[in-house]
Amino acid sequence: MSFASLGLSEALAAAVAALGYNAPTPVQQRAIPALLQGRDLMVAAQTGTGKTAGFALPILQKLFPAGLADNSKRAGSGQTRALVLTPTRELAAQVHDSFRAYAEKLPLNSAVVFGGVGTKSQVDALEGGLDVLVACPGRLLDLALMGAADLSTVEILVLDEADRMLDMGFIRDVKKILAKLPKERQNLLFSATFSNDISELAEKLLKNPERIEV
Ligand code: AMP
Repeated sequence: MSFASLGLSEALAAAVAALGYNAPTPVQQRAIPALLQGRDLMVAAQTGTGKTAGFALPILQKLFPAGLADNSKRAGSGQTRALVLTPTRELAAQVHDSFRAYAEKLPLNSAVVFGGVGTKSQVDALEGGLDVLVACPGRLLDLALMGAADLSTVEILVLDEADRMLDMGFIRDVKKILAKLPKERQNLLFSATFSNDISELAEKLLKNPERIEV
């Protein structure tokens, strides 16, 4: 099985080939087509399974369906089309780096925001309007309250490592962020484990999700 046969553009297939990915991993084989069909997803997968590419590649495909030539749809100032929430700065930075690497041949506008550093450069990055924003919940909420981040146009939401997000006490921030998103959107929840708390969150967040366990 190839990345192209899962429905990814030549630009994305070439980018992953250049990174030495020969074939999609099991989580990618299931998540990519489901995401491209517009399904909500609930994925039980550990780090190391290729889960990041499992959501990043189809998100880029949806944002840039015509590949390199595609710059038809743009987010307005402060807005973003796809939002990825992660529990830690390290993971946020890694996920953002992955998007940048996969989008090497695409006109991607993206940013990563997390706490512990100044807000100025993050506010500036948001101003241009983003295709993809990777964020830790606390800082994103601050930026939204400042009026720098407008979450009303998010088309796709990813909660990455949702179990860690709950363990670290981010649930209240996550719920406040969810309240700022439009009702009509695609939702993906990734978690290494599925506790009662995660199931409860999934119940609220996901519509008729495809369940994937690897
Ligand atoms: P993740 O589970 O998303 O943290 O990814 C684990 C590692 O696997 C990362 O270093 C990726 O670059 C790499 N990776 C992801 N997908 C593939 C693939 N299809 N083939 C080879 N390596 C991959």
